[in-house]
Amino acid sequence: MSIISDSLKRIKPSPTIAVTQKARELKAAGKDVIGLGAGEPDFDTPDNIKEAAIKAIKDGDTKYTAVDGTPALKKAIVEKFERENDLKYSTDQITVGTGGKQVLYNAFMATLNKGDEVIIPAPFWVSYPDMVLLAGGKPKIIKCSENDNFKLTPKKLKKTITKKTKWLILNSPSNPTGSGYTKDEMKKLSKVLLKNKKIYILSDDIYEHITYDNFNFFTIAQVSKLKDRTLTMNGVSKSYAMTGWRIGYAAGPKDIIKAIGKIQSQSTSNPSSVSQAAAVEALNGNQDFIKVRAEAFKERRDFVVNSLNKIKGISCLKPNGAFYVFPSCKKLLGKKTKLKTDSEFVKRLLEKANVAVVQGSAFGLDGYFRISYATSMEKLKVAMDRIKSFCESLS
Ligand code: PLP
Repeated sequence: MSIISDSLKRIKPSPTIAVTQKARELKAAGKDVIGLGAGEPDFDTPDNIKEAAIKAIKDGDTKYTAVDGTPALKKAIVEKFERENDLKYSTDQITVGTGGKQVLYNAFMATLNKGDEVIIPAPFWVSYPDMVLLAGGKPKIIKCSENDNFKLTPKKLKKTITKKTKWLILNSPSNPTGSGYTKDEMKKLSKVLLKNKKIYILSDDIYEHITYDNFNFFTIAQVSKLKDRTLTMNGVSKSYAMTGWRIGYAAGPKDIIKAIGKIQSQSTSNPSSVSQAAAVEALNGNQDFIKVRAEAFKERRDFVVNSLNKIKGISCLKPNGAFYVFPSCKKLLGKKTKLKTDSEFVKRLLEKANVAVVQGSAFGLDGYFRISYATSMEKLKVAMDRIKSFCESLS
């Protein structure tokens, strides 16, 4: 009999973390590897946020806090939703966790019974299906095509809903494609969801502030009558370059928020007191740097998309948000190149060209790969040259 539980056997380790780890190991072994696998901004946390954390430590803000967030942080989150998303919540509709990842995990743990279905549009963030499986639920993957900008269509959504559907996950802008839903697209999906009164919506808005070309961000609770059935998740990791601080949050129906808190009370308890103090400053402080950083990301996006589209066999859409692109490598798979899958393509790219990216199949869509361009322009230039030479060497 194995010591490992059956529920753990249902899941696999995060493939994006695995790629990042592999790139780190190769670097440590002296290889000149460029890692384009990690999902974190290369910018540093702004100084005003760091100062708030230092002050919190000095003031003795170093004890347990309320399990699901300090009153100060909950207040800042309520104000954020009102200011930026036109959404009104009370503090008992807010929960704070150790990263958005924990909030999502707790939400599934708190709501899924065995066999409950969760609709996940693919390409998806790698953790959604495994979190659902761990909680005993059933991921229902809908493949969204490149022709639809990798976005879910109302028709596909309608076809996938069953009596067992409990959640739909929406992630806009998306990891791994960078695609964002317009207000109109959200409204059309809402129409289908309003007809099916039992479905809840989990809106993952973690890339809200990283958008380009005047893309207008909207979250589904804001543009539909679905607020009472929506858990809106967000966090400070990406917008404020605070991945290591581990603060994420969600707003939604009181019963779900309370249930999430119950799980947290028996697992991790409160997120770090110091990080919470820093997050208050992030949300309440000066927001100007967000635009400046989004401009820097845009310059990199444009460079990466243009460079990729000049490579024979590669094609890449121009996304409206996040810091990823999801190019197709389908034309480079087959007898001629002796590469059968995107995983083989990615493996060979790392071995031969020292560039680490993640295969599309890890995100639920074969024939693609994900590049994170949250790294310096210098590194991106070298990486694009290497990818070009590698692809040319295949034909
Ligand atoms: N959601 C998406 C789509 C992500 O890409 C990530 C991080 O990569 C998260 C949620 C979780 O972020 P964190 O736990 O750092 O708040």
